[in-house]
Amino acid sequence: MTIADTAARFETVIGLEVHVQLSTATKMFCGCAVAFAAPPNTLTCPVCLGLPGSLPVLNRRAVELGLRAALVLGCQIEPESQFHRKNYYYPDLPKNYQISQYQYADHPPLATAGVLVFEVGETVHRIGIRRVHLEEDTGKLVHGEGRSFVDYNRCGTPLMEVVTEPDLRSPEEARLCLARLRVLLQYAGVTTGRMEEGTLRCDANLSLRLPGTAHGIRTEVKNMNSLRSVERALRFEQARQAALLARGEAVVQETRHWDEHRQVTFASREKEEAQDYRYFPEPDLVPLRVDEAWIARIRADLPELPEARRRRYVEAYGLPEHDAGLLTATRPMADFFEETVRHFPQPKVVSNWLLGDVAAYLNAAGLEIEEAPLAPAALAELLALIDAGTLSGRSAKEALEEMLRTGRGAGEIVRERGLVQISDEAQLRAVVDEVIADHPAAAGDVRAGKGRAIAFLVGQVMQKTRGRANPGLVNRLLRERLGAG
Ligand SMILES: [Zn+2]
Repeated sequence: MTIADTAARFETVIGLEVHVQLSTATKMFCGCAVAFAAPPNTLTCPVCLGLPGSLPVLNRRAVELGLRAALVLGCQIEPESQFHRKNYYYPDLPKNYQISQYQYADHPPLATAGVLVFEVGETVHRIGIRRVHLEEDTGKLVHGEGRSFVDYNRCGTPLMEVVTEPDLRSPEEARLCLARLRVLLQYAGVTTGRMEEGTLRCDANLSLRLPGTAHGIRTEVKNMNSLRSVERALRFEQARQAALLARGEAVVQETRHWDEHRQVTFASREKEEAQDYRYFPEPDLVPLRVDEAWIARIRADLPELPEARRRRYVEAYGLPEHDAGLLTATRPMADFFEETVRHFPQPKVVSNWLLGDVAAYLNAAGLEIEEAPLAPAALAELLALIDAGTLSGRSAKEALEEMLRTGRGAGEIVRERGLVQISDEAQLRAVVDEVIADHPAAAGDVRAGKGRAIAFLVGQVMQKTRGRANPGLVNRLLRERLGAG
């Protein structure tokens, strides 16, 4: 039996565990700032360093963001939940335990039993959310030059873990589910969701089974740093397990890491053993109580979610469904669009530039809109220059490319490169006369009523002016000069 036959015979079962960094100003249990790429060990205090005698204080904002996520995911919010100590030793964990929310006996996590809905074509997928819980992040080890360093800045950063039921049936579905979760959480203002910065991290469990039978033996795949790598890593793992089963071998339950460079998963070198984390309730924190009034306030404060925004773009801005769908695909893109429209109130024009030239540049550069140095006000300035006739469409594209690359302003680039559109009749008439003199055959064709030759002459004028001539004006001047109607 071939591997493909085996793979086709088996059903793939995937569940996700997603760690989300909450968008708070300060850490989970202390007042230290949360910031990306600050100098090492500058954002610490006795609490997040785990010094004796220090006591944690729960960050209310982190709880509120966790509750927002729970509401968006349709979860049941537990009226009372408890924090626990997860005990283990590792150099990036100075307390020797992580404060988390473990589920046992009558200690539920923050929220349970939700559902994530997403569409693939005509098919609606409903993926169960097993739990949403809060915890703190660890520090970071930095390895190099035969030594290892530890940076505690990240230690105590607020995290939320979202665990799905094993309802996903293919690597592609897993990617789409994660993409949907990310969009919802971004819109809800829960996280920036930047996988490359680690504010969203995904682990996945995958197993194969014969339909109708119990779950097969699963492996856990870690270290996937983009949506695309989630799908690729799971595809690899699916094929690897199918090959083992085809040879009559057993899948070993283990943790495997995705190697983005080699495009393979590999087993960690450390020996797998069932860790005993000796969970027990955190004695320094009282139980977390969430009453109905608090939930109602969080619900009332929920930001606009993607579907509502898409509808608004169609109804209020008059955009086609297609544009509205693309613009709301990520919250940063939608925010960028709205901010640009505030400065330049022609939504369809803004949409055309964002989905056209800007999107093409971002795709080619492998960037998201929020990673490019372009500001909405700068794009609006460029569009206003085109609108005022100061800049031709072609010159605008040239300026935009530099704006996206360098973050410089439109006006500045236009002045420096001499891109201002030539709409001065006398100046253009001189160029038109030159072109007519240089191309007597084409000029003769136009005089003889062969209208199509005029496009060639317009092109010549544009070339001579490096694309700066006002094309409408050039066209009129040529017709006047050549006596064409
Ligand atoms: Zn601290």
